[in-house]
Formats: sequence, structure tokens, C-alpha cells
Amino acid sequence: MSTVHLAAACASDRPQVTAAKVRALWHAAGFDRVVAKGDLTAIKLHVGEPGTKTFVSPDVAAALVRCCVDAGAKPFLTDTAVLYRSERDNGVDHARVAAEHGFGLDRVGAPFIPADGLIGADEIEVRVDGKHFETVAIAAAILQARSIIVLSHATGHLGTGYGGALKNLGMGCASRKGKLRQHHGRPPKIDSDRCTGCGSCAEWCPAHAIEVDRVARIDAAKCIGCGQCIAVCRDHAVEHGWGFGGARLQQRIVDHAAAVVRSKQGKIGYLTVAEQITKDCDCMGKSQRPLLPDIGLLAAQDPVAIEQALLDLVRARAGRTLESMSYPRLDGSAQIRYAEEMGLGESQVELVELPA
Ligand code: SF4
Ligand code: SF4
Repeated sequence: MSTVHLAAACASDRPQVTAAKVRALWHAAGFDRVVAKGDLTAIKLHVGEPGTKTFVSPDVAAALVRCCVDAGAKPFLTDTAVLYRSERDNGVDHARVAAEHGFGLDRVGAPFIPADGLIGADEIEVRVDGKHFETVAIAAAILQARSIIVLSHATGHLGTGYGGALKNLGMGCASRKGKLRQHHGRPPKIDSDRCTGCGSCAEWCPAHAIEVDRVARIDAAKCIGCGQCIAVCRDHAVEHGWGFGGARLQQRIVDHAAAVVRSKQGKIGYLTVAEQITKDCDCMGKSQRPLLPDIGLLAAQDPVAIEQALLDLVRARAGRTLESMSYPRLDGSAQIRYAEEMGLGESQVELVELPA
């Protein structure tokens, strides 16, 4: 059985109140043993797509930074490039969005450093021997960091039913190539109406899989699915399909999560924000109303237990499952079952609520 600690909290808490709760959870969940003096510590979070208002509060990130600094570590905030058209599809704009959403050095006390570099190509292939992949592509800085705090926002999700720590780990720490493989592993497609024939994608393609004759064309037999053409095309002419969702996508995400968890034995902690839980995730770029009243902040060293505790708490508070309020056709618990099968943690949970 794994222990998960809960601090009742809400998004409108004052910064000092949030800081005190985060610090209490830090000690209760043993993060002072996870993060040590001299560690380069990654705080993996989602800074929110432009247009979204309900992402994790910068106050929570700032409080974690303070705890890391007090432990003698060198924290940095981090995330990876997204697959879709977004200001978060390259490192420069991603860092700017982070600053605009309150995650700048001046406010949180740590820099935002894209984990997979300027165009989502800084990656390390890691052996996992999972159900779907022998090896997976993980953002380099995630593996190079000595310790990680996985700071997740609980939400519904259109592909997986819900998203929490496992999705933040598995999809959020994968490089662009890793994300492409999770969704389907097929080559991207060129939208010939948008393509100007500029040739940038062909110059960057590491597999020489692109030829440009008025418009670009991808040779599927040569393509290795790295996704670099998606990143470099400024005309948004390179598209990828979202492929499959449901249990298969969840298991493919967990295969990637396994690479991160196993690389950081005893050096990874999880803090999940169960506040402003919305139907869709923070990638949606729109204002959303929360599905239920805020629950609080959860902390643990077990990614399976913290997910189970989150789903149990939502069901107890709302009287129904998170997926039933977001995407009822999806069973989000497939990711928990497979993560337990992969040995990432335990779904038997002892929930300990901190005194108010
Ligand atoms: S970078 Fe984009 S616009 Fe330029 S050739 Fe490639 S697909 Fe076409
Ligand atoms: S995904 Fe990578 S290998 Fe495939 S065409 Fe694009 S740049 Fe080339």
C-alpha cells in the first residue's frame, strides 16, 4: 500500500497559504529525501495553452521552487514541445508563454527550460520493453536532471478520459518523436494547399525523407517519425493525425512514463493539483468552467497511487467519476492498471489528510 497526502486547498488561496500547504506536503511526502543538495531538479509542469485560464497556479510552482532551493538544489521549470499548431511548439515561444502565464524567473524564482530543446528534437532513446514499445524517446533534460517533481493539473482529457501524473510523465516528458509514436507512429502528411515549397522541412529532415517539387512530399518508407518537419514548417503545412485513443493510447503513454520513473528511482516526487478540474486539458486554449468544487493538493512518491487517490476523491466529492463528467466513452483507469502491471506503483492507497 502506498501513502498519498492531501492538503485541502482551492485556487483562490492566497500565495502565502499555498506556500505553507506545499511546504507541509513536501515534508509529509518525503520530497526532502527526493531532492538533494546540488541536484539539477526538473519541475515538470504544463504552463497552459494561450487562452486557457485554469492551469496550475504559478504560486504552487514558486512554492516548490522555494523548497528545492532550501534543499540546496537548482530547480528549473520544464515542459516539452507540443505536436499541434501552437505557440508551445518551439522552445522560444514556449518560454514566452510560460512567462506570460506567470512562470517567469522573476515570479517563480527559477528559469523555464524546454526539456526537448529549441524544436523538440533533444531526446534520448530509452529501453522499456513495454507492451507497445521496446524503446521510447524521452526529452533529454528530463533524463539529465538529477531529480524531478512532477507537478500535474488534474483534468478530463479527450483521448484518455482524464489526465494527471501519468499523462504528465508519459506524454509530457516524451519528445516530439515520442508523442508521434504514442498517437499512431505513421508519417506526417503535407497539406499541399498550405505548402509554399520553401524546402525548410527537407533541409531539416534527418532521414532525407522529403522531396520538394513545387510542394513537399514525404516518402513514408524513409520517414522515422521524428516530427521535425512539423516543428520547422512555419506555414503549418505539415499535419499529423491523432490516431487512436482509449486504452491503447493510455498504455503507450505509460510505456513512456516507465522510462522516466525507472530512470529516477527514489529521485521523483509527484504533486497533483486537484483544483479547477475541467472537462478538457490545459492544451485546449479556451476558458472552461470547473466540473466540481476544488479538492486540494495531493503529494506522493508513487505515480499509480496518486492517480488512484485523485480518481477516488473526485468520485467521492462529485458522486460520479471524472470520465463520466468529461468523456464518458473512455475508461481512464486503463492507464492506472497498466502502470501497476509495469511495476510503476500500487493502486492500494492510504490517504492521509493534513490538518487544516
Ligand atoms: S517547410 Fe512547410 S511550406 Fe516549406 S516545403 Fe516543407 S511543408 Fe512546404
Ligand atoms: S517526421 Fe522526421 S523523418 Fe519523417 S518526414 Fe518529417 S522530418 Fe523527415
